[in-house]
Amino acid sequence: MIFRPLFLFLALFVLLHSALAADRLSNPIADPPAWETLAKYQKTITHDEFERLLRGVYCSHGIGDELIRVEPEFACILMDRDAQTWFTLRFAKNERTRRPAAPPWRTAPSLPRPKREKKILSGLKIALDPGHIGGAWAKMEERWFKVGDAPPVEEGEMTLHVAQMLAPKLRELGARVSFVRDKTEPVTSLRPDDLKEVAREVLRTSGIENPRDDFAGPDDPLKDQTVRWQSEILFYRNSEIRQRARLVNSKLKPDLVLCLHFNAEAWGDEQNPTLSDENHLHLLVNGAYVPAELQSDDVRFEMLRRLLRRAYDEELKIADTAAAVMAKKTQLPPYEYTHPDNVTKVGTSGYVYARNLVATRLYQCPVVYFEPYVMNSREVFARIQAGDYDGTRPINGVERPSIYREYVDSVVEGLVEYYRAARR
Ligand SMILES: [Zn+2]
Repeated sequence: MIFRPLFLFLALFVLLHSALAADRLSNPIADPPAWETLAKYQKTITHDEFERLLRGVYCSHGIGDELIRVEPEFACILMDRDAQTWFTLRFAKNERTRRPAAPPWRTAPSLPRPKREKKILSGLKIALDPGHIGGAWAKMEERWFKVGDAPPVEEGEMTLHVAQMLAPKLRELGARVSFVRDKTEPVTSLRPDDLKEVAREVLRTSGIENPRDDFAGPDDPLKDQTVRWQSEILFYRNSEIRQRARLVNSKLKPDLVLCLHFNAEAWGDEQNPTLSDENHLHLLVNGAYVPAELQSDDVRFEMLRRLLRRAYDEELKIADTAAAVMAKKTQLPPYEYTHPDNVTKVGTSGYVYARNLVATRLYQCPVVYFEPYVMNSREVFARIQAGDYDGTRPINGVERPSIYREYVDSVVEGLVEYYRAARR
């Protein structure tokens, strides 16, 4: 699950206002762009490839000449909106003479061929990123609800459970598996209390000078204007995901990250949630930046870095294959966004979208982000309550395997199908 409409509104609100701030960063705790690190990508991409990825994938909702100007032999990218300084990227003349981009991860065809069919993932480094934190943080993250006397549903615990069941199966196939998070505790060392001053700064740039410290509860309509809510968002959304990105990029250095989530429809009161009949599936890869996001210097830089590292073609193929397998196994229909202004459907399965999430933007290798199952649909809720089990059990009159095994087996079979074809 990504975020609910209130957060979307606030994210845009913060984004637009902080873009007006002097440093032009999307967020006060964002890393400033390091344009000098892009020098190594000179002449690694042709004009046509750059255009295909820029217009078709990353800026599919448009990009103005005042931010990126593409000429036949080079592109100029605005580095600093205040100083009006530009980065010049020179294109390779053709595919034959282009310099290799040499990313720090490996595509399937570049891996050594597996010696045994059973070890189809041998040599592949996979990092599992169970979405959210869970545990004592689940309520703060708004990833917790409870129906009557039934045990609560907590996305952060469920995603960790999926990762723990998935890891041995991937290792069995030869993969080297690491965890971005392996317990229901934050990866970041910062806590909301450490971020109160930053929260006040965020509110100040949004025009709120004397904010309230606390809010009444999840239903407080003005909670987003309080120091507590802002410091919590900065903690579990920003600081946490940025720290996970540092771990992925500097320490784990995988060839592929799998972000594991469960989706949900708005449930209202967490103690008396709305159950729905909706149930669906989609997968995300990075792309489809909205024009307002590209105004921020850091986001523009990170978008270009992702484009030049050439992760898209690999991650789309993995996502498309995994999505088709998961769709067949779960029989779920594709999720259709009601406000598709920040997504673009990509690939051929009908289940994969490009979208600019912080994790998919900052992890510097192919990232496939899974969003199966609506946790507060009647059927999925019943399956979650049934927990993990062998074989099948009747769920609302239909024989079903455990939701965890179905999730894990779908991911494993999707990867096997992709790597079997790609490592031939
Ligand atoms: Zn989620």
